[in-house]
Amino acid sequence: MSALSDRVTRLRSVLAESNLDALLVAHPANRRYLSGFTGTHAFVLVSADGTWLSTDSRYWEQAETQCPDFQLHRQEGGVSDWLPGLLTPLAGRKVGFEAEHLTVSLHKQMRDIVSGMAAPERPALVQSEAVVEQLRVIKDEEELKTIECAVRLGDAAFAAVAERIEPGWSETQVAWEIERYAREHGASAMSFATIVGGGPWGAMPHAYPRQEPIAAGQPIVIDMGVVVDGYCSDMTRTIVLGEPDAKFQEIYDIVLTAQETAEATLEAGMLGREVHALAEDVIASAGYGNQFGHGLGHGVGLEVHELPRLGRTVEEPLEEGMVITVEPGIYLPGWGGIRIEDMGVIENGKFRNFTTAAKLRMID
Ligand code: ZN
Ligand code: ZN
Repeated sequence: MSALSDRVTRLRSVLAESNLDALLVAHPANRRYLSGFTGTHAFVLVSADGTWLSTDSRYWEQAETQCPDFQLHRQEGGVSDWLPGLLTPLAGRKVGFEAEHLTVSLHKQMRDIVSGMAAPERPALVQSEAVVEQLRVIKDEEELKTIECAVRLGDAAFAAVAERIEPGWSETQVAWEIERYAREHGASAMSFATIVGGGPWGAMPHAYPRQEPIAAGQPIVIDMGVVVDGYCSDMTRTIVLGEPDAKFQEIYDIVLTAQETAEATLEAGMLGREVHALAEDVIASAGYGNQFGHGLGHGVGLEVHELPRLGRTVEEPLEEGMVITVEPGIYLPGWGGIRIEDMGVIENGKFRNFTTAAKLRMID
């Protein structure tokens, strides 16, 4: 509970700085972050002196249980029936809405409803962006513990399945065995549809698994994550069944060196593009700069891809308490791909890796 009230306090100071009197929150991860509500339909409204959760009869009991510190507002009928009642306490004030999450049609409907309210009762709706997302980049103790649990379970699921894969298994079988292990051991869901890419298929960074049998000697990219108590993990390993050939050894070694270099040398205060460059420089100097197309990493939390970003054009700095992935890759069309991804926290200015899943070593 104290973590939630602390989040509301931090939101209030951001609202004050941005000249907003309140924020109307509809994005599920943002809503959950502020209120603890895990249902799929509600609005959270936070002002300087109030916190409301607005939902309908399907979620009423759940809201009472999960949000004891929020004033509950009941939605009955259509939006035009209940929205004015929710907004009346903010008459004459500026209420931000999440521009990147509200649909165009709902936005239009809300504007029409507000302009139809009597002038003394009407708030001003103001576009705002990534307000709660910016709060979510710095994880608190409770979040870090939950995220570490998710990473541990993801690592265990990978280890349990990776050692059993044999030539002839299909990519979908690998994905399903990982998911089954994760679900049987406490994951509420997967963070995203597990990626399994064997051989040339792995040259697509987000390869979806096929029924194709996996052959010995080819790289297999496995990118997976699990959800525990709402928090995601994200991890990639590239393995090979049987003996890797010289090409695999060469490329794998470059990617692993790029990852280890970035993890060992990144620091709080470095800009996202500077962190990205730590790995890209290693890959480029080995001659594969054009084969590493995506950013080095991203934040992970209630969503598997969230702020911050690590990439060529990112000017925001790394800060203490951020959880990030470090995931360099090299992709060669016609041959395959190699990506290795860890996730961890910025702690005492450095990267503390949460991921413990074994990596292949080419030169042991
Ligand atoms: Zn991943
Ligand atoms: Zn990732």
